[in-house]
Amino acid sequence: LIQVFLPLNTLGFVFRETRDALLNTEVLFALLGREPEIVDAPDAQPLPAGDTTLRFDDVRFGYDRQRQILKGLTLEIPHGQTFAVVGSSGSGKSTLARLLMRMYDPDGGEVSIGGRPLTSLTQQSLRQAIGVVPQDPVLFNDTIAYNIGYGRPEADHAAIVAAARAAQADEFISLLPDGYETRVGERGARLSGGEKQRIAIARAFLKNPPIVVLDEATSALDTKAERAIQGALDEVARDRTSLIIAHRLSTVVDADQIIVMDRGEIVERGRHEELLERRGLYAQLWELQRQQQQTESLERRIAQHP
Ligand code: ATP
Repeated sequence: LIQVFLPLNTLGFVFRETRDALLNTEVLFALLGREPEIVDAPDAQPLPAGDTTLRFDDVRFGYDRQRQILKGLTLEIPHGQTFAVVGSSGSGKSTLARLLMRMYDPDGGEVSIGGRPLTSLTQQSLRQAIGVVPQDPVLFNDTIAYNIGYGRPEADHAAIVAAARAAQADEFISLLPDGYETRVGERGARLSGGEKQRIAIARAFLKNPPIVVLDEATSALDTKAERAIQGALDEVARDRTSLIIAHRLSTVVDADQIIVMDRGEIVERGRHEELLERRGLYAQLWELQRQQQQTESLERRIAQHP
């Protein structure tokens, strides 16, 4: 009996290991936000310097066959402009950003940069051209300086400090016990969401890409942090072609154009005042956001002075 039992048990163990390994691969791809199947075309070319007009042309896309998320979306962000994308949760904002970074290929239509379809470009040149500031940036359990300089090993301390200044991160960093040598903890646990995003913005400054994709943090920030983030955003988006998934009112007000998404479609576009006057979805989202921010700041004040 024991003899039969043991191998089965071992088998059970092996099975569990394999299943965990499979799960981990899935988790890994989920973390990276991509599936492994995209490869360069044999004749892929690097993205040339120059025009970085971003264009989505009649783009159709779904993560699976059963459900189409984008149903023929057309959008052009002219070279050097900053567009803010807003819309309720699940409306397809991040999907736009993922297609631009070519984590997926559309099922129909085309995404292009400067008139060149993404499918004709090398992925390496695409990654070099786009600076990404995710909502919850991945930080390494290392120093602040390492986390800013990551990806640019040739950057010296002066360049790292300059990038941090531009990202309005220098002030909070210099208040830390070991300054730039402070360790950030596992996944940056010792930093707030806003601080992590400023580290990621500093990283983007150091990279100096012509295109920036930014997913704003939804977490509540106090007025000072909000202002610092806003200043950093304005700076990093300046003179670059930028797509910002916006959650902050200040960002949308400053954008060259606001794109309002609903269920995978662009339902409104324009500047802040125009959209408010239209009294449509944007006006509703704005009002909702305003109320939310008021509640949050009230809650913060109560927490600070109970
Ligand atoms: P949020 O503001 O909550 O981040 P969003 O507007 O960015 O939302 P997307 O992440 O673009 O929305 O998602 C659009 C739709 O696609 C949602 O219905 C979502 O459930 C679905 N979706 C997103 N990612 C995947 C995925 N990897 N696999 C399957 N469906 C997905």
